[in-house]
Amino acid sequence: MSDYIQEVLTAVKNRDTHQAEFIQAVDEVLTSLAPILERHPEYRSARILERMVEPERVLMFRVPWQDDSGNIHVQRGFRVEFSSAIGPYKGGLRFHPSVNLGILKFLGFEQVLKNSLTTLPMGGGKGGSDFDPKGKSDNEVMRFCQSFMTELQRHIGPNTDVPAGDIGVGGREIGYLFGQYKRLRNEFTGVLTGKGLSWGGSLIRPEATGYGTVYFAAEMLGTKGDSLEGKTCLVSGSGNVAQYTVEKINHLGGKAITLSDSGGFIHDPAGFDEEKLAWIMDLKNHRRGRISEYADQFKGSTYTALDKSMGHNPLWTVNADCAFPAATQNEINEQDAKNLMANKVGVVAEGANMPTVAAGVDVFLAAGILYGPGKAANAGGVSVSGLEMSQNSMRLAWSREEVDAKLKGIMQSIHENCYAKAQEYGTPGNYVNGANIAGFLKIADAMLDQGLV
Ligand code: NDP
Repeated sequence: MSDYIQEVLTAVKNRDTHQAEFIQAVDEVLTSLAPILERHPEYRSARILERMVEPERVLMFRVPWQDDSGNIHVQRGFRVEFSSAIGPYKGGLRFHPSVNLGILKFLGFEQVLKNSLTTLPMGGGKGGSDFDPKGKSDNEVMRFCQSFMTELQRHIGPNTDVPAGDIGVGGREIGYLFGQYKRLRNEFTGVLTGKGLSWGGSLIRPEATGYGTVYFAAEMLGTKGDSLEGKTCLVSGSGNVAQYTVEKINHLGGKAITLSDSGGFIHDPAGFDEEKLAWIMDLKNHRRGRISEYADQFKGSTYTALDKSMGHNPLWTVNADCAFPAATQNEINEQDAKNLMANKVGVVAEGANMPTVAAGVDVFLAAGILYGPGKAANAGGVSVSGLEMSQNSMRLAWSREEVDAKLKGIMQSIHENCYAKAQEYGTPGNYVNGANIAGFLKIADAMLDQGLV
C-alpha cells in the first residue's frame, strides 16, 4: 500500500512544488496511514487520499487599507476551506508577514485532522493575511480588519465557515472583524469564535489552547505513573498559547523557566509566578512590547537574543524536564531536537502547529520520549471554539468550571484515542501515528458515506 501513498505524495510535490510546509505536513500524515490503507482497500478505490490533500475551496482576495498618515497599502487575504466532511469549516486566521498559500494549506490540512480528533462536529479551514499587526496603531488594525472582513463576509457564516484567531489575531482583532461582519450582514451570530465575553464569547477560550496542551502532557505522563508536579519546563513564544501554557503548568505544580518572541528568549530559573505572568500578559497583550524587557524588570533573569547564524536556538539547550514549543512552525530543527534529548527532556508537548521539523520528530520518536504532536496536543483551542459555537446556538453561557471540565474531558479522550490507535496499529506510544490514524478514520468514513463530492 505504500506505493499508493508514494503516488499521492509525488503528485502533491509536483503540483504544489513551492508549498514546502504543506508538503511537510502531508508527508507526515500519509506516512502514518500505511497500516490503515492495508486494512481498508476501499479508501484507495474511493481515492480518499487524493481528495483529502486538495482543499474544497481556496479564496484569495485583495485587502486595501489606509494607515494613520493616509498612505495606502495592499495586502493579500486568504481563506482555505479545506474539508466540510464532518462539519462547517473551522480554523483560525493568521496575520503575519510570512503568511502565504502554502503555510495556510499546511495549517488547514492539519486542522481537518485536529478537528476530527476533538469529538466535535467541525470541518477544517484556515485563513489570514500577510498583514503585520506589529507596530500598527489600534486604528490601523481596525481599518485593516474591516477591509479584510468586507470581502471575507460573503464566504463565511455560522453554518458554513467559522474562523477564529491564530498568530497575530487575538481578542482585539476578533472584535473588529465581528463588528464589521455584523454591520454588513445585519445579523448577530456565532460567525467567529474567540469573541469577547459580553458579546457571545466563551469562558476559557483564551486559555484553552495552552491549558489543553498541558492537560495533554499530564495525560502522557500519567501513562508512566508520573505527573507535572516538580517538573521544570521550557516554553517558547509569549503569545496566547505560551501565556496560558505557563499558567496551567503552575496550576499543576510544574515550573516554566523560559519564554521567547521572534527576537530572542528569556530564562528565569525561579520560574514565572502569578505576578510575573501578569506582568508578561500586560507587556504582550496591552503594551505590545518585546520579551527582552522582562530581563530589565526581574532580577535573576537573562535575555538571549536569537542569532540565526548559530544554526540552533539556545532556548532548547536550557536544562529542563519538559518542553512546550508554543511559537510557530519549524521552530525546533534537528539540532534543537538533539540538544533537548542530550539534556534528557522526557516530554515534548506541542502548543504550536508543526513546531518540529520532520528530522526533529524522528529524533524524538527514536528516543522514545513522550512526544505529543500539535494536532493532538493543541486541539484544546478549537475544542473550546466548538463549545463556543454550541453555546451561541443554544443562546446560553456555561460557567468557567463547566467549560474547563469539558476541555479537560476532551483532552483526555483525544489522548486516549491517540494512545489506543497507536497500539492497535502496531506502534505503541507513537502519538504521531495515533493522532493521524484516529483523525483520518472519521473523515475518510464520512467521505465514503457522502459520496463523490
Ligand atoms: P500569538 O500571536 O499570540 O503569539 C505568537 C508568538 O510566537 C509570539 O511570541 C511571536 O513572537 C512568536 N512567533 C511568531 N512567529 C514567529 C517566528 N516566525 N519566529 C519566532 N517567533 C515567532 O499566537 P498564538 O499564541 O495564538 O499561536 C502560537 C502557535 O500556536 C501558532 O503555531 C499557532 O498556529 C498555534 N495555535 C494557536 C491556537 C490558538 O488558539 N491561538 C490554537 C492552536 C494552535 P513575535 O511577537 O516576536 O512575533
